[in-house]
Amino acid sequence: MGRKFFVGGNWKCNGTADEVKKIVSTLNEAEVPSEDVVEVVVSPPFVFLPLVKSLLRSDFGVAAQNCWVRKGGAFTGEISSEMLVNLGIPWVILGHSERRLLLGESNEFVADKVAYALSQGLKVIACVGETLEQREAGKTMDVVAAQTKAIADKISDWTNVVLAYEPVWAIGTGKVATPVQAQEVHSFLREWFHTNVSPDVAASVRIIYGGSVTAANCKELAAQPDVDGFLVGGASLKPEFVDIIKSAT
Ligand code: PGA
Repeated sequence: MGRKFFVGGNWKCNGTADEVKKIVSTLNEAEVPSEDVVEVVVSPPFVFLPLVKSLLRSDFGVAAQNCWVRKGGAFTGEISSEMLVNLGIPWVILGHSERRLLLGESNEFVADKVAYALSQGLKVIACVGETLEQREAGKTMDVVAAQTKAIADKISDWTNVVLAYEPVWAIGTGKVATPVQAQEVHSFLREWFHTNVSPDVAASVRIIYGGSVTAANCKELAAQPDVDGFLVGGASLKPEFVDIIKSAT
């Protein structure tokens, strides 16, 4: 079963309206492989979502960087899945390590968010990954399995989920996982799905890599059999994001 290459751009908490317009116009002018070959989704901060959606080429998708864990209401400062759906935003990133670590989002909380967002019709980029301390203690596989299991316990349909493996020590550090390190975890996760969810999900779920992906290192990573794409932070704000999209072929 073919897994379509997926490239997400996580802009995090960056940009002014003018900068955002500039990034969008670079993307709009870019020549990239067709939609049949690569799915591209960019994730601006909430306040720029309508702007980006209105300007961005129609073959690229848009994602929010977070959403509330259940139906909206008296939750000051939060944005609900319903609002994203209402604005026509198809995707949301959930469980990013910056939220897990800086804002204390637990595996269960992230899993509840994933389940609720899916129930409202959103597609989810769900992030997992170990810290340096956990890797050095030999706990990488336990950590990513526990993060994935928490989600698997709460959802039954993985069709609209892309799993992003993002080792925390590689995020924003310039210290990318080697192709071997990435492949090792991706194939472990695929095997985990095979055993704990189903062979079908294992074969079809896209597992993408994130953490200091650049135009210079993406080709080698993309060549790994279980790396189905990327979630790109810093480099997604730069023109080199186009080269990363091109690594799909
Ligand atoms: P980075 O971020 O590419 O800047 O390391 C990746 C991410 O956090 O998704």
